[in-house]
Amino acid sequence: MNKHFAIVGAGFCGLSIALNLLKAGHSVTLFDKNPIGSNTSSAASGLCHPFPGFLARTAQFEKEGRCATVAQIKEVQEFAKVPLITARRLLRVAMNEKQQKRFEQLAQERDDFTKATELLPFIKSGMQAYWIESGMAIESRAYIVALFDMCTSLGMKFEQKAIAKLSDLDQFDHIVLALGADSDSLIDLGNRGFNRVKGQVLVGQYSQEVPATIGKGYIAKSSETGHYHMGSTYEHQFESDEPNLEVAKELILGKASSYLKEANQFEVSGVKSGVRYSRKNNPLPFMESISSRVTILTGMGSRGLLYHAYFAKQLALKLN
Ligand SMILES: Cc1cc2nc3c(=O)[nH]c(=O)nc-3n(C[C@H](O)[C@H](O)[C@H](O)COP(=O)(O)OP(=O)(O)OC[C@H]3O[C@@H](n4cnc5c(N)ncnc54)[C@H](O)[C@@H]3O)c2cc1C
Repeated sequence: MNKHFAIVGAGFCGLSIALNLLKAGHSVTLFDKNPIGSNTSSAASGLCHPFPGFLARTAQFEKEGRCATVAQIKEVQEFAKVPLITARRLLRVAMNEKQQKRFEQLAQERDDFTKATELLPFIKSGMQAYWIESGMAIESRAYIVALFDMCTSLGMKFEQKAIAKLSDLDQFDHIVLALGADSDSLIDLGNRGFNRVKGQVLVGQYSQEVPATIGKGYIAKSSETGHYHMGSTYEHQFESDEPNLEVAKELILGKASSYLKEANQFEVSGVKSGVRYSRKNNPLPFMESISSRVTILTGMGSRGLLYHAYFAKQLALKLN
C-alpha cells in the first residue's frame, strides 16, 4: 500500500531515502530548515573510499556501500546530465613508517590498493604513495542539487521549514528523520553517545595539477576550473557551526605542508564548514525505528558518501 512519508533533512541521507521511497511508488514530502545545497553534505569534499582512518582499516560494509554509492551517483548523473565524479581513483601518501608498513601490507592483500610507481612531483620527495583504485571523488553540492531535482521530478514535494516537534507531522503515515548533526533535536537519543565534530575545508587555487590526494588531510579538485578543496579540520570544541577562515587556515595549511611540496602556494578564496555526527566507538551509521511511525538514519561521521546510498536503500526496504 502506498504511504505518505515526511522526511526531515535534505542531506545525502534524507534525499537518498526519498529517492528509494519515490521509486517504490510512495508519496514523499521533504522538509529542511535550510535551502537545498547549504548543509554538511554540500560542504563535504566528496572523497569516497574503503580505507578510512590513519591505519586505513577496511571499512565494514565497504563493498555494499561503494556499489550502492556508485550506482546511485551514476543514476543521478544520467538524470541531471552533469558530471558529478571529479576523480576515479585517489592517491594516499604514507606519512610515517607505521602507515608505510600498513599500506605495503594492503598493497599485498588488495587489488584496489597499488603502489604508485610513477613520478609524483607534487608530493614531498622521499614519500611513498599508493593508489586507491576503488576510490573516487564527487562534487558534493552538485550531487545534492541533482538528487533533489531527480526526487522532485518523481513527485516529491519540498517545504523549507524547521520542524520543531514531531506532532507537526501528524498528518503523515510515517516520519523519517535524517537530521545529521541535529539528530537529538527532535527525539531523545538517550545515553547512546554521539560525537559532534566541526569540519572546515578551504577552497582555492593551486599552483600544480594534483590528483585527489590524501596525506595528513587531503586535496581534491572542485568542479570550478582550477579550484581545489583542501581539508579538513576536526574541531571537537567550537562555538559556532559557521566557517571561520582564520581557524581553518591555521589548522589546514600546516597539515598540507607535511606532504604537499607547494602547500604554501595554495591561494585560498573561501571556506566551507559543516558538522559531522557519529556514534562514539562505532563508525557504522545509526538506523533505528524510534516508534511504529518514526525511523531515523544518522551517524554517518566522515563516511557519508560510502554509506548513505546503501543504508538509505536498506531503510526504504524496511518501510515498504
Ligand atoms: C568539511 C567536511 C568535509 C567532509 N568531507 C567528506 C568527504 O570527503 N567524504 C565523505 O564521505 N564525507 C565527508 N564529510 C561528512 C559528510 O558531509 C557527512 O557524513 C554527511 O553530510 C552526513 O549527511 P546527512 O544526510 O546525515 O546530514 P546533513 O547533510 O547534515 O543533513 C541533515 C539536514 O537536516 C536538516 N535539519 C536538521 N534539523 C532539522 C529540523 N529540525 N527541521 C528541518 N530540517 C532539519 C539540516 O538543515 C540538514 O540539511 C565531510 C564533512 C565535513 C564537515
